[in-house]
Formats: sequence, C-alpha cells, structure tokens
Amino acid sequence: MDCAEDDCERPATVELHIPWTDNRLVCAAHARVLGRQDGVVADPITDRGDELLEDG
Ligand SMILES: [Zn+2]
Repeated sequence: MDCAEDDCERPATVELHIPWTDNRLVCAAHARVLGRQDGVVADPITDRGDELLEDG
C-alpha cells in the first residue's frame, strides 16, 4: 500500500490516527511531518510480518 499523500509513491509504514478526520496510512517521512500536529498519533505498522521497512 502506498502513502496516502498526493504525489508520494513511498510505501506506507505508519498509520496516523487523526482526531478530526479518518485515519491515514502514510510513509515515514509524511508521518513525521503530519504527526507533529496536535492530537495526531503515529502508529507504526511493523507487526504484520511484511517487509515494509526495508529501505536501502
Ligand atoms: Zn508520503
């Protein structure tokens, strides 16, 4: 699954829990930016046995 942000084709590795809208699956870079907003919780999706974090 790709990052939910427009113009971003990185694999989604983090689920953002956003109080004022639906959850979003985004890449690590976008999670870092978007996760700085008040109330947003960044929840890494690393416990599914996938290779999502393989990142050169
Ligand atoms: Zn992204």
